Amino acid sequence: MRVTVVGGGVIALLTAVECALDGHRVTVVDQGPIPYSRATSFDQHRIIRALHPDDPPATRAALRAHRRWLELEELFATRFYERVGALTVLPPAAADAGTVLLADAGGRARTLTAGALADRYPHLSLGGAAGAVLEDDAGVLLAERVLSACVGWLKWQPGVGLLEHRPAVAVDGESGRVTLADGQVLDGDGVVVAVGPWARRLLPERVAKSLALYRQSLLYCRVPRGAAEAWAATPAVPALGTRRGAWLIPPVAGTALKLSSAAVCRQVDDLTDNATPERWQQELTAEFADLLPGFGPAWVLGTKDCYYLSHAETGGPLVVSLGGSAHAYAACGGSSFKFAPLIARTLADRVLGRVPDRTGLAALDADPLDARP
Ligand SMILES: Cc1cc2nc3c(=O)[nH]c(=O)nc-3n(C[C@H](O)[C@H](O)[C@H](O)COP(=O)(O)OP(=O)(O)OC[C@H]3O[C@@H](n4cnc5c(N)ncnc54)[C@H](O)[C@@H]3O)c2cc1C
Repeated sequence: MRVTVVGGGVIALLTAVECALDGHRVTVVDQGPIPYSRATSFDQHRIIRALHPDDPPATRAALRAHRRWLELEELFATRFYERVGALTVLPPAAADAGTVLLADAGGRARTLTAGALADRYPHLSLGGAAGAVLEDDAGVLLAERVLSACVGWLKWQPGVGLLEHRPAVAVDGESGRVTLADGQVLDGDGVVVAVGPWARRLLPERVAKSLALYRQSLLYCRVPRGAAEAWAATPAVPALGTRRGAWLIPPVAGTALKLSSAAVCRQVDDLTDNATPERWQQELTAEFADLLPGFGPAWVLGTKDCYYLSHAETGGPLVVSLGGSAHAYAACGGSSFKFAPLIARTLADRVLGRVPDRTGLAALDADPLDARP
């Protein structure tokens, strides 16, 4: 088959890898360079953790994704997964339940008490924390390195082409045709559209209307020299247990310490620039002053805003059928990087006419939303 993949982020690139591994001809087309610095996937790091409290299927799916990332490191002969673990701060009973859930799903984790947290992580003020789950099969994916590794691998595959700086302006699922802004038409037997937060501009109006756009601010920080060793042994912290939903990614493999919180994620009308307005920088700086001893503006090296789309009805991801064998990953729901290998496999299955691999993730296993004209 000839498959056209529109987009050059993690979902599109891994879908292209899946199709190429199955021996198909693939053309990947992006509006910018591949990878593109404005893509949501393009960042120093992303967290991968398995624990989804109260959701055993998603927890099992995340453990499968963890194993698939390790296989991909082998395939691409590149290291991009820093297995520093993940720490989720929770009330004691919930932490115990989380540890049991992970063990039942085949993962490795332990509960830490408030005392153990204070001993292990004196550079984090987890004063209000009563307990936490520390999981081992988790950590930090070096996102930019993942994208470069995909591109490096794809470039060497026979039958794979990468078209850069070529925005797609129309997709006809029934005929498998993708029209580019310069008028070129790409004919294929199947199409996958994974254009991240730009999806509302390319997908049919009624799909676009069902998607909500979010913008989130991030601080990139240095850590004091004296605390470098402690930070090097710090896991990713997807939940610091605060009311505002603070989280952080430690400075692994030469990256910065990254700080953000759910409180600085807001719904917006349009995808515009990636600069962080002063107000949101100040909110984050004030928030982390209470969480990291000694933290202040002097730690901040840079800032960035990133966008993602969610299905407005569910708040999660959305797969749509565009007719024929064309499918779109219309919304990522804000946490698709870690699941990208499973998402890519499912999208490849659908476009290649195979029975889709069941992932355990409801949004992926459900029938795609029918968006045929
Ligand atoms: C602040 C923040 C933190 C996050 N943290 C995590 C995390 O810790 N763990 C996790 O698992 N997930 C996380 N996510 C989510 C994750 O980053 C995204 O789900 C994922 O990167 C989305 O990838 P994508 O390939 O769908 O989109 P993108 O990476 O945005 O790629 C889309 C690509 O499509 C291209 N494109 C757009 N329009 C066109 C067009 N018309 N023609 C051709 N090409 C086009 C773009 O140029 C771009 O390269 C986070 C998201 C945000 C915003």
